[in-house]
Amino acid sequence: EANCNVAMEAKLPKENGLNGHTGIMFNDITPLLLRPGVFKDAVDIFVERYRGMGIAAVAGIEARGFIFGPAIALAIGAKFIPLRKPKKLPGEVISETYVLEYGTDCLQMHVGAIEPGERVLIVDDLVATGGTLCAAIRLLERAGADVAECACLIGLPKFKDFYKLNGKPVYVLVESR
Ligand code: AMP
Repeated sequence: EANCNVAMEAKLPKENGLNGHTGIMFNDITPLLLRPGVFKDAVDIFVERYRGMGIAAVAGIEARGFIFGPAIALAIGAKFIPLRKPKKLPGEVISETYVLEYGTDCLQMHVGAIEPGERVLIVDDLVATGGTLCAAIRLLERAGADVAECACLIGLPKFKDFYKLNGKPVYVLVESR
């Protein structure tokens, strides 16, 4: 099962109107998690790409970045930093607010999670407009991090022209709509 195509087949997008977003194609990664071989293949592809690149930290975006980020971090010998929604982290935080289609959202990180100059990989399940990843990049860079790349399982190509990632590359395993 060690190839990318298997991961693509397991990715079963479905119309489910999740969170009231009727009409959007919600790309659900949970079927992939039910197949340990496929889950491992997906993590291994990232691990092969990022091992030996001097990545000191993997920063995962709540919530689905918490599924893949720690597995990658452990395999490449990096620490894991959770980037969380507001009021979830108990310690002192720095925050980055970003604009969504309707309203705003915010990511927070513990002060001291990253040392200035440390090389970081940012992980999430999916990139659409890139707004979430961009907020994560800004947050980490404000703390002095050197962001190497963003990694997602799924990319939505229809938004590619709109990516606003502060010049940072985003690597995706599969494209969807
Ligand atoms: P964006 O900031 O527009 O790149 O949106 C990416 C974030 O929203 C990620 O954390 C995704 O988990 C979530 N997201 C956006 N669109 C979708 C979608 N069609 N299916 C699943 N998750 C999505």
